[in-house]
Amino acid sequence: MPKKYHIYPKVTPLEMEYLYKFKITRGENCINCGKCTKVCIYEAHKRRKDDPRKMADPNTVVCRNCFRCIQECPRGALEKSLHQDYVNISGFYWKADMFLTLWKQAEDGKVPVTGAGYRGPFTGAGFDSMWTDMSEIVRPTRDGIHGREYISTGVELGRKHNHLAFDTEGRLLTQPHPTVDIPIPILFDIPPVELSPNVMLALIKAASEISTCVILPAADIKPELKTYIANIIPFITESEIDKYADILKNARLVAIDYTDALPDKLAAIKERIKNISNAVTIIRVPAISGIEGIVSKLVNSGAEAIHIVADYRGQEINKDKEANFKPRLLKDIIRSIHLKLVEERIRDEITLIFSGGMAMAEHVPKSMLCGGDLTAIDIPLLIALGARLYEEPEKLLLLPDGLEKIPVDIITQRMVNLMCAWHSQILEMMGAMGIREARRLRGETGRAIFFEEIDQETFGKLFK
Ligand code: SF4
Ligand code: SF4
Repeated sequence: MPKKYHIYPKVTPLEMEYLYKFKITRGENCINCGKCTKVCIYEAHKRRKDDPRKMADPNTVVCRNCFRCIQECPRGALEKSLHQDYVNISGFYWKADMFLTLWKQAEDGKVPVTGAGYRGPFTGAGFDSMWTDMSEIVRPTRDGIHGREYISTGVELGRKHNHLAFDTEGRLLTQPHPTVDIPIPILFDIPPVELSPNVMLALIKAASEISTCVILPAADIKPELKTYIANIIPFITESEIDKYADILKNARLVAIDYTDALPDKLAAIKERIKNISNAVTIIRVPAISGIEGIVSKLVNSGAEAIHIVADYRGQEINKDKEANFKPRLLKDIIRSIHLKLVEERIRDEITLIFSGGMAMAEHVPKSMLCGGDLTAIDIPLLIALGARLYEEPEKLLLLPDGLEKIPVDIITQRMVNLMCAWHSQILEMMGAMGIREARRLRGETGRAIFFEEIDQETFGKLFK
């Protein structure tokens, strides 16, 4: 049995301005009876250190919103109100609860629980309109996701043969294509904002610690970072192959920016890279209208892996700035590309990576069920460090003040913790779906329920 892949979390608090859903306030009518200290298992209520006869201010940070203290206070002295900050940060796609979840995950690497259970909507846009079939929950993983039975989240990047060829003597003629194994179906994408040297180094070290890779513009790979090249995917244009030959020669993967002329030149580009390195080539393409045709052309031109990049809200990119553009969501884009390649019988030949709007752990297996092989994430890694993202009036990603002075090890561990929590959630979902290998998730729509489809199936005839 292969060695189990494990990510090691460590509680790593960060001094940052936290966002709270509810603010707890203790009113003047408190009689300091201390009952709230006993009922709150998260220790949000404590007595003052300097004067234990009195209660200290409630610690909203640790509160999990179970409302027990509110109900049990004999004087009705505790009150919870929505934080204005919480209301302001919620956008069309990035909701305040996502920030709270990601911060908590980065803190201790655990899957957060909310005391009062899930009280949100059961459907929404994009991946939120998709549910997974957990009916296998008691079977292959009956002793738990960390139990005896192994669930592999590993994926393989690279081109695959559609069939094998043999000579008349029965000898294998087909040469296997080079592939790269990654133990978790998540790459770190190009950072969406400029990072200070400590955050950049931490990003790379976190990728290295969990054995994945981070995509970085080759120009940002300074000499001191080259020791991590096995975990870095240099991103270049095809005209920069020779310029960055020194970096490419030790890389396992290289990402090339897509241009319309690229499919016709792909064989020559691969040959030029092959002369320098054994790296598997990833073509990075924006998720624009007609992406299905572009992907199909690239596969037929011999592409090894294709990375399709939607915008930060997981929407199709309006390349031609069309008025009244109605973007498709990533979930639908993935399904459409996957289906086209299946119909053309070339899906198995290619590795497809999807990114843009990957905000929560469940988006990873859901994107794979839609037809992706793996994902790339960017913004959640910065939210793990306390970043805030506002969508209105326009996209604004704010890193916390003083981040450039935080030790590399702390930043690294918070990113590792986040990935630990995501890995546990992916394992939970796979276990519940009865899927033991991540690559078997790909296009397994039989394990998914799409709200739009059952809504149409159930009520379509009534409300034409
Ligand atoms: S239970 Fe109510 S009255 Fe008692 S200490 Fe807590 S807030 Fe004050
Ligand atoms: S609401 Fe629940 S978790 Fe929050 S402080 Fe009160 S008892 Fe503790």
